[in-house]
Amino acid sequence: MAVKYASIIIDISHESVDRIFQYRIPEKIFSEVRVGTQVCVPFGAGNRERKGYVVEITEKADYDESKIKEVAGVVEGSITADSRLIELAWWMKERYGSTMNQALKTVLPVKRKVRARSHQTFGFEKLPPEGSGSGGILPLNPEQQQIADTFCADYDRGKRKPCLIHGITGSGKTEVYMAMISHVLAQGRQVIVLIPEIALTYQTVMRFYERFGERICVMHSRLSAGERYEQFERAKKGKTDIMIGARSALFTPFPDLGLIIMDEEHEGAYKSEGAPRYHAREVAEKLAQMNDAALVMGSATPSMEAFSKAKAGIYRLFSLDKRAGDGSSPATVEVVDLRKEMRDGNKSIFSRRLQELITGRLEKKEQVMLFMNRRGYSSFVSCRSCGKAIKCPHCDVSLTLHNKNRLICHYCGYTIPMPEVCPSCKSEYLAGFGVGTQKVEEMAVRRFPQARILRMDLDTTSRKGGHETILAAFAREEADILIGTQMIVKGHDFPGVTLVGILAADVSLYAPDFRCVERTFQLLVQAAGRAGRGKKPGIAVIQTYLPEHYGIQTAAAQDYNHFYHQEMGYRELMNYPPSCHLLGLQVSGQDERLTSHMMDLIQASVARHFGSCVEIIGPVPAPVYKVNDIYRKILYMKQGNYDILMKIRKYVQERWDETEDCKKLAIQYDFS
Ligand code: ADP
Ligand code: ZN
Ligand code: ZN
Repeated sequence: MAVKYASIIIDISHESVDRIFQYRIPEKIFSEVRVGTQVCVPFGAGNRERKGYVVEITEKADYDESKIKEVAGVVEGSITADSRLIELAWWMKERYGSTMNQALKTVLPVKRKVRARSHQTFGFEKLPPEGSGSGGILPLNPEQQQIADTFCADYDRGKRKPCLIHGITGSGKTEVYMAMISHVLAQGRQVIVLIPEIALTYQTVMRFYERFGERICVMHSRLSAGERYEQFERAKKGKTDIMIGARSALFTPFPDLGLIIMDEEHEGAYKSEGAPRYHAREVAEKLAQMNDAALVMGSATPSMEAFSKAKAGIYRLFSLDKRAGDGSSPATVEVVDLRKEMRDGNKSIFSRRLQELITGRLEKKEQVMLFMNRRGYSSFVSCRSCGKAIKCPHCDVSLTLHNKNRLICHYCGYTIPMPEVCPSCKSEYLAGFGVGTQKVEEMAVRRFPQARILRMDLDTTSRKGGHETILAAFAREEADILIGTQMIVKGHDFPGVTLVGILAADVSLYAPDFRCVERTFQLLVQAAGRAGRGKKPGIAVIQTYLPEHYGIQTAAAQDYNHFYHQEMGYRELMNYPPSCHLLGLQVSGQDERLTSHMMDLIQASVARHFGSCVEIIGPVPAPVYKVNDIYRKILYMKQGNYDILMKIRKYVQERWDETEDCKKLAIQYDFS
């Protein structure tokens, strides 16, 4: 006869979810007990009956069999918001490979004391405007209306296929979301709105607040654990019914979640960096399914993952291809070849065309944004004469410069000494790529002394409220030029901006990441989307050493479909997601030799047992090999079937847990 044990947390609002107790499940209630079920158990010396949640079911006792007590029974109406979250945690642990504890800590807020506050600041310096809650309601245009109507009709018929709205920047996606939200709220259900980085989306949050007022709760990443807990408690008690926030807002314990909106679906911030390394899109899909809720994603540049699902009919695809605001039309995009600038003797980071356009804007008192892409800053080497970056012959990713003298491929380990001349054209102008925003500012001040210049990057925004102060000043037209990193290109709506300059489009093109072209395309399209949001037409200038690259060309043409086809061809050829699944298994430790040795053992073992069905690459050093004196190595595995990768993960973990040496090392899994 099978014996089953349930791991139970007694009080999930406890300071810590670490205290998990094991109980035996009586055979007669086997069928009723699963992960997330609320049960009654005898607890403590007096065996007082307490309620708890089942977080794991096993067939193995972790303690002396005779000391394990029995579950008393299942609680009536035992499925609560918390049980669904616990079930979700279990799913995340399985899918992404973490411990149950890590997964529980991700989905359940920690109870902490909250410092008294006189008012809710929403994490912003400024409070919502007076009389909020009644504003907005722009009438939708016919394209927007059709999407909203289709969604609502499907929703009422119980059809809940995830939707993807592919709408160009400024096409009015936010208004569509709000119509959908109203529909779902009217049925007494609640809504989660995910936005990638809340500090950068002040304007969007304010629009929601104007429309829905008091019913909204904003979860800012700068909230303390206690404040977060309090927000979740309000949601649980029905005091709020729209939660807006970054990816962790997904875990709001609403009693009847009816809709999840995921804005800027393609953003990298939706992927968690810590275990479990979940992607909010996948978790949102699961959560929606568990709650019989709808999921609506939107983007001007959908991720390859989402768009391929839409094309396969797994998601429902909607398109908005015109700007919504009257008189506003997409910017004209010009590409400037920096190789030609250099040949003609212009070594400045501002091309002649860009200088001419900036001067024109300054004369007309219109605003300019200058964007310096810094992803992958300085870590790869490229040729300033022919524009080629030095790449791995086996992997089609750029080699990374180490200690100024060696180039290494972070996907396969291929390595060469730093060459003296360009392998393609023999030019001596080889350089680590990248100029910082500070340098750009200095040069702009020198070149345009008459201009009022603001800079927005990590240095100038580290102070609380730094983003809002700079963005608000620029919005009030207190500056002519705003210089910044990726953070200036996202979602902002400045009607005064008629020129956007992208100073070095190529920087992110060679990041050691199979998604680098996708990321570049997204950034360029988003950046171009900042120009001409008002009535005056906008121009975007893309400066590049590689004008013929498909990522640059398709971005300049703002042709998403063309980009998607080219990029999908590359992913299929190289077996990268979404045409395949990729599991990165990372081992890290202070002892470099032990780390390497363990990695080799894992590699050999996986190759022996799964070699016939999975493509194995590595082990290779992690893109950043040493962090805080910890060495990190990664083994990549590619398989079209996710279940096989999950099986490999389990196989490795089971052996890992039995090895003594592992106590000195850490293992982590990253699925994509
Ligand atoms: P997106 O979210 O797609 O970037 P937004 O929802 O921010 O687009 O809309 C862009 C601009 O167009 C905003 O200023 C918004 O107020 C305006 N807008 C949106 N829908 C309409 C509409 N139906 N009529 C007039 N203006 C609109
Ligand atoms: Zn060259
Ligand atoms: Zn390689």
